[in-house]
Amino acid sequence: MTDNDKPISDKPARDKHYPCPECRKPMLRREGKKGPFWGCSDFPKCRATLNDLHGKPSTEINEDYRCPLCTRQMVKAEADKGEYWFCSGYSKGCKVRLADHNGAPEPAFRCRKCGNLLTKRKGKHGEFWGCRSYPECKATYHDSEGHPDF
Ligand SMILES: [Zn+2]
Ligand SMILES: [Zn+2]
Ligand SMILES: [Zn+2]
Repeated sequence: MTDNDKPISDKPARDKHYPCPECRKPMLRREGKKGPFWGCSDFPKCRATLNDLHGKPSTEINEDYRCPLCTRQMVKAEADKGEYWFCSGYSKGCKVRLADHNGAPEPAFRCRKCGNLLTKRKGKHGEFWGCRSYPECKATYHDSEGHPDF
């Protein structure tokens, strides 16, 4: 990653070619362990990479691939371990694990009371959101179209 924060393209990107910030060769979109990213077509000679933001190369991190607790990037588990994502801060003590949702980590929401993640649960009266710190934290939230109703 460079600190070369100039706009990536100086002409309208009508031909879907995004020049490499280092050597100006076209960038290619790839599927990586931390989600999609852009790598230089001259790899391995040029090792420039950029994050993918809504299908375009960007120096910004796509928030969809960030850990909702510690903001590190999420990593996709090996295919034979199942379809889920875990936090790249796992060895540093962040045990966040999220199911795969169309190739990205499922949307996650934090408990307003303790800050831990919420999980959707099924109760007698329909679906609701419960805290993952249960039984230490007994906060629950109503479900409103797939989101906790804070
Ligand atoms: Zn390059
Ligand atoms: Zn984390
Ligand atoms: Zn809680």
